[in-house]
Amino acid sequence: MCQIALVYPNTYAVGMSSLGFQMVYRWINEQPGALAERFFCEEVAEAGHAPPRFPALSVENQRPLEQFDLVAFSISYELDYLGVVRFLMENRVTLRAAERDPEVEPILIAGGVCLLVNRLPIYDLADVLVVGDGEGTVAQIVAQWVASGGDRGRPRGGAAGCARARFLQAISALEGVEVTEGACRRFKIAVNDQPLALRTQHSGLSTQDSTVSGQPSAIQNLKSKIQNSQPLHPHFAPCLERADAYSMIVTPHTELGARCLVEIARGCPYRCRFCFIGHCLPYRARPFDAVREMIERGRRLTPRFGLIAPAVGSHPDIERICEWCRSEGLEISFSSLRLEDVTPAMLDLLAAGGQQSVTVAPEAGSETLRRALGKRLSDEQVIQFAADAVARGLTDLRLYFMVGLPGEEDEDIEAIARLAGAVRQAAMAARPSRRGTGILPVERRRPVHVTVTVAVFIPKPGTPFAKAERPTPAQIKNRLKRLHAQLGRMEGITFRLPSFAEAEAQRILTWADRDVLSALIETARESGSSRRFVGRTSKSTDESKSKT
Ligand code: SF4
Repeated sequence: MCQIALVYPNTYAVGMSSLGFQMVYRWINEQPGALAERFFCEEVAEAGHAPPRFPALSVENQRPLEQFDLVAFSISYELDYLGVVRFLMENRVTLRAAERDPEVEPILIAGGVCLLVNRLPIYDLADVLVVGDGEGTVAQIVAQWVASGGDRGRPRGGAAGCARARFLQAISALEGVEVTEGACRRFKIAVNDQPLALRTQHSGLSTQDSTVSGQPSAIQNLKSKIQNSQPLHPHFAPCLERADAYSMIVTPHTELGARCLVEIARGCPYRCRFCFIGHCLPYRARPFDAVREMIERGRRLTPRFGLIAPAVGSHPDIERICEWCRSEGLEISFSSLRLEDVTPAMLDLLAAGGQQSVTVAPEAGSETLRRALGKRLSDEQVIQFAADAVARGLTDLRLYFMVGLPGEEDEDIEAIARLAGAVRQAAMAARPSRRGTGILPVERRRPVHVTVTVAVFIPKPGTPFAKAERPTPAQIKNRLKRLHAQLGRMEGITFRLPSFAEAEAQRILTWADRDVLSALIETARESGSSRRFVGRTSKSTDESKSKT
């Protein structure tokens, strides 16, 4: 039996909202002779009412980590690298691969979309990195574990170590799989393609480094970091034909409620200039028949579904999918909508399912800045969309913007507040007047709420904005403060202020090299806060500068 501890380095609610995590869980458990049990950070119980407990126990059978030979992490957010370190620390696993006991301690495998962006922060911690899609790769890893004899317990005297070494050597040949230097040292093996591309010099960038794009040395430095941070051979499944990308477990204890998530496409056909997905992942749409089959299987669990894709409306068969879902009386929500693609059928489907909220992402307040991002979306379209949605009975409009974009001026921040106000005004006017048989006066119609969520822009490798000059941290903080003050005065609008420290930590991890692991470890030992992490990385960069 191949038994894998599948760890999501965040809470139960966040982990179970991740379709990628659920897919890996399905792929392992549907394979004969394989078993995956879930672990989360902070919460350990399915129902979410047990207190945090360490060492952690698996959700399924309350087994401790030490009973598993393979521990696999699913990482979809840079700050979860800190969660990985904390989880290992709390469960007394040696942090660096090269120092782990080859016989007794588990083999650590890491995968998830975050590794595509930059796998270096945990390169020295993991034994194996799975870069790209898990389709096919997960099954082959399980098969190789069995073929290498890794599933026959842990005999003493070096036999377990030999089986593990055979396993690592075998999987190193798989596309998208990288056996790390630390694992090679740990098991005294050499594998093909030893990480030649990993030439690392110093720790994470300071705040200023990514803003000095005019200096040739800084550009060269960033270029080498982009090359270093790109995977050698990511694995991308050529097409997604199988009906195997839907939730295995439906629970109300998620961020999305009790819905069965169904992936209808991966990647995005658009190329917004800031977006890693649009520039670095191939676009693949799942055929209509596979989508229908997944929904039909998921119906045994719930009639409520969430259709998942970076831009749901871009699926070539979206009209047909919506029509079919509607004829079947299903409740549907969409993960994210690119406003230009939204059709009346999509809005009708949302409203028919009793959905109250809809999220759209203008990204920037002004049309000029939006065009610079590669988004041809007018204010008028945003306002009209809000009115159309509210006219169908939706009452909760969520607008998503970024602050700190290249080329951003103070006026772009004013434009966010203006657009949010105009959206609310149009939405209030569009509220349906009929309730039951009577016609309600305007003041008694259901209120509409607008939530404005703002994220601090993080440049991503491989995108046209990777090296573009951004506003300074002081400018960004100042703009956030002003936006907060402006939106705070507006009735019916809620503003979610982002954490600048978290965004900064995310940026550092996006561009960091291997040295940043020390700062992650020190931060996890202290409080685990982003602010501490940012402080540590700035300090270590300053120290390395002063030594040269
Ligand atoms: S539409 Fe969304 S997912 Fe697609 S490229 Fe633009 S930002 Fe990225």
